[in-house]
Amino acid sequence: MPLMQDIAFCLKPRCPVCREGRLFKPRSLTVVDECAVCGAKLGQNDVGDGASVFLTFIIGFSVMPLAWIFEKAFSPPAWVHGVVWSVYALGVILLLLPVIKAYIILLEYRHRPGGLGIKPGEAGQTQKGAEEKKPPRNKVPIE
Ligand SMILES: [Zn+2]
Repeated sequence: MPLMQDIAFCLKPRCPVCREGRLFKPRSLTVVDECAVCGAKLGQNDVGDGASVFLTFIIGFSVMPLAWIFEKAFSPPAWVHGVVWSVYALGVILLLLPVIKAYIILLEYRHRPGGLGIKPGEAGQTQKGAEEKKPPRNKVPIE
């Protein structure tokens, strides 16, 4: 059941190659340079702002209807909205940022051509090494 495995992977982020080594440095969301178990060069991966973009959408699309319902039900003063939704947004960020970042890394490993520069069974090789094996992209055969 791949979906359940993906969810388990995201809730406890591990190396996407061996599923045993840590994905993030302790108390951080920085990807480890190299998997301690299989030696995969995970530090070469860069998900950029991907996780933040998803979180922005999740928070934005959930806060507005919830705030509207909260306003209709309780009609609190504006400062209560400020406190409640700031705490909500911070909580969602703290809970989901590592989960989403781990999922993006897993998807990159699984679907990107040469994802993370590592193919199953080639753990420990570099992105550069993986690129050297690829044929040139822009070369058109001359007839
Ligand atoms: Zn590993």
